[in-house]
Amino acid sequence: LDQSTASKFLNLLLNESVKVQSDSKQTHLSVFLKAKALEEEGKKIIHLEVGEPDFKPPKEVKTALEEVYDKGYGKYGSAKGITELRKELAEAERDCTVENIMVCPGARFAVYLAITTLLNPGDEIIVIEPAWPAYKDCALNAGIKVRTIKTTLETKWEPSIDQINNAINENTKMIILNYPNNPTGKILPKELLASIIQTAKEHDLYVLSDEIYEEYSNDDWHSVSIYDYDKSIITRSFSKSHAMTGYRIGYTIAEKSIIDKMSKLQALSLTNVSEPIQYVALQALNADTSGNTEIIKSRLKTLVKIAKDIGLEFIEPDGAMYLFAKTKYKNFDATKFSEKLLEHGVAIAPGEGFGDYKEFFRITAIDETRLKEGMTILDTVLKESYE
Ligand code: PMP
Repeated sequence: LDQSTASKFLNLLLNESVKVQSDSKQTHLSVFLKAKALEEEGKKIIHLEVGEPDFKPPKEVKTALEEVYDKGYGKYGSAKGITELRKELAEAERDCTVENIMVCPGARFAVYLAITTLLNPGDEIIVIEPAWPAYKDCALNAGIKVRTIKTTLETKWEPSIDQINNAINENTKMIILNYPNNPTGKILPKELLASIIQTAKEHDLYVLSDEIYEEYSNDDWHSVSIYDYDKSIITRSFSKSHAMTGYRIGYTIAEKSIIDKMSKLQALSLTNVSEPIQYVALQALNADTSGNTEIIKSRLKTLVKIAKDIGLEFIEPDGAMYLFAKTKYKNFDATKFSEKLLEHGVAIAPGEGFGDYKEFFRITAIDETRLKEGMTILDTVLKESYE
């Protein structure tokens, strides 16, 4: 075997062992499920672990739901989505036509399609941690090896170009970016992002940029689309911006050849995204969602203030809807702490779900009253346990 084929085989074997190990980790989802079970027993839980806005979608969504039946949407359709919606989405982007857009049932499925269709078993991807766990899980599921780059609080969650270069080898095919980031809220400085894209170009890597938190960001954020890189794939969604998580609708922006590949698997597995929901999303584009952005920004500010007051250690988020923090206590174990906190009625997301961050936890910026209540309990349990 030549070296590349041999290392691909090795990657497949390694993946099997990683799959077994990752099953035992506590994630925001496993905590959420435990919290739900407690609620069913009649316990009250403050959900600081969830990753969805707790307000309603815009009123345009309600009107669209009322009229969609009579409009006749509800047939089989194109795997890439209804043309009217793709057209409107394309118009909002730079240098983009309808051919560059595919509607998907959520950004999660878009990520799955990109990883599964553009890469082959034994290929490698780079994930910068802390990261939303699905990137790794999708890769593992497709027999693709993940090289993680660990960033730290001390380096402001910024990867170095050296770290990226060191992770690249002949099997590396893709790097995944997610800014504003879940869980840290980080937005990379412009120059660093430009250097990462340049590195990706030099090594002919796909860049999968998950921009689902684009609307929840400060003014310094910009899309990877400005680099005009023909191997970039951008995923966006109505889930966060329009508070439409359960509607399951998002989209991908990429070169036509990439969209064509991804749409084949979408056609195979789904036929098409629900037409009524696509119509609803089309109408949702008329909504002014700036109010949601302001709500999230204000909640994040409140969360930052409380977290400072109680002595948590973190980098202030530039966007998204979370705070990723640790405590001053030595040997603090966030997984154990989250279990204990749940007994006191507050759910948080343990850091180990986002990579090798056992001492960190993620808190979602929910409505201010509940947030304050939850943070007071968190502070009390923390002090009782560690002082
Ligand atoms: N990307 C990131 C970074 C997320 O945090 C989430 C959801 N929490 C998603 C994608 C999934 O989005 P969707 O609901 O559009 O599938």
